[in-house]
Amino acid sequence: SDHKLNYPISPAHMDWSSHFPAFVDPDESKKNLSGGRKLTKEVEVVDIGCGFGGLMVGLAPLLPDTLMVGMEIRISVLEYLSSRIHALRNQQQRLKSKSTNTPTDSTEPIATPVQSTDPSSPTNDDEIGTDKIFPGNFENITAIRSNTMKFLPNFFAHHQLSKIFICFPDPHFKARKHKARIVSETLNSEYAYVLRPGGLLYTITDVEEYHHWVLRHFLHGELEDGSTPPGSSKDLFERVSEEEVDADPCVRVMKYETEESKKVTRNKGNKYVAVFRRKADPEWP
Ligand code: SAM
Repeated sequence: SDHKLNYPISPAHMDWSSHFPAFVDPDESKKNLSGGRKLTKEVEVVDIGCGFGGLMVGLAPLLPDTLMVGMEIRISVLEYLSSRIHALRNQQQRLKSKSTNTPTDSTEPIATPVQSTDPSSPTNDDEIGTDKIFPGNFENITAIRSNTMKFLPNFFAHHQLSKIFICFPDPHFKARKHKARIVSETLNSEYAYVLRPGGLLYTITDVEEYHHWVLRHFLHGELEDGSTPPGSSKDLFERVSEEEVDADPCVRVMKYETEESKKVTRNKGNKYVAVFRRKADPEWP
């Protein structure tokens, strides 16, 4: 439950150094408000409800200089993903030292991810066991256990993010469960707060009704009672054109590389994609 979740009291207190050791600022005097070392750059991309991390692993070599975090509420899933990332980094380290022929002084064995007890977890990891060196060596991705419905602004400052992904969110079909949906007028304002103007929010679902819910909530700023007050999401987001979406390599990763997208492909289900651009903040009189 939430009282067991760790979260910083503000983004300035968040210590990312253990998550991104390759990006720790060499200047030891630079500290965050909790006393930890600072990074050379900010985390910019978030995958909300990342599950087993297929999106993160797929995006890592595509955006090797961008720091990205997957957030997931389930403990066993998060443990699986953390160990998957650790294993990928170790493997890259080995391959790099092999290719430069310099002996590594690391005595750490190549880690293999712990097998999750969740029956829907991936059974074999395509990447592990291949001998390819990937740009960024997976040093640019990490995973954190969090309830994003409650704690997103604790981790990210105003306008910090350039991309947010919401891939195959739990549909919560029944009307009385709609308040548990991860897309809502209230949460959209938080996404708008942490996303910078020009930043993109990506969504994909296999549930057509949820896709329409997403469009209504981002483009019309609809409240749970169906009303659309001024100053809501509709003033903050615009839909990205189909051409732009089709040309975006991140969309391909979202469509084919998350664990849920693979399941939908196997079951020959439909995939509904919508990408929204964060507009500039409205001018106040
Ligand atoms: N995005 C992944 C994919 O495409 O394979 C996983 C999709 S799965 C259907 C939805 C995920 O969202 C689950 O792993 C669930 O635990 C997670 N989730 C649901 N509510 C959450 C919340 N409030 N905070 C963080 N993760 C959440």
